[in-house]
Amino acid sequence: MRSGIGFDFHRLVEGRPLVLGGVHIPCSRGLLGHSDADALIHAVCDALLGAAGLGDIGLHFPDTDPRFQGASSLRLLATCRGLAAERGLTVVNVDAVILAEAPRMAPYRLLMQTNIAGALDLPADRVNIKATTMEACGPVGRGEGIGAMATVLLTAGEQGPAA
Ligand code: MG
Repeated sequence: MRSGIGFDFHRLVEGRPLVLGGVHIPCSRGLLGHSDADALIHAVCDALLGAAGLGDIGLHFPDTDPRFQGASSLRLLATCRGLAAERGLTVVNVDAVILAEAPRMAPYRLLMQTNIAGALDLPADRVNIKATTMEACGPVGRGEGIGAMATVLLTAGEQGPAA
């Protein structure tokens, strides 16, 4: 078994769609970034790459590379899964938390879990997404951006333990 952690943060700006966990969330502002700026998926990618000993998301998908401009982060996550699979590593489970003052994430949690599970070829119950506010404190609390942290557990072999 190998565990990894990931963290990401993106600024909220006007004129961008808000995409988290591959879900387009209705919001007057969205996250700024080179790809679709999906901070949740980026945290999961980093946790997966970390568990596999494969560096981080910036190493594999540099924000200077035009191929990744506007890229779907779910596609990047599927690529990360493939990189781990090349090393004989399979995802057991994902746990993550979104740090956002607004909008409320509860209506989108299940869809995020389904999207992430789909990109990782996992049953949806192996992916858990949570959300919290920052009680109006700090950059997240002031609505300046949205963060996410994640853990991923990998196991050697084709299949993880039975659910
Ligand atoms: Mg990012």
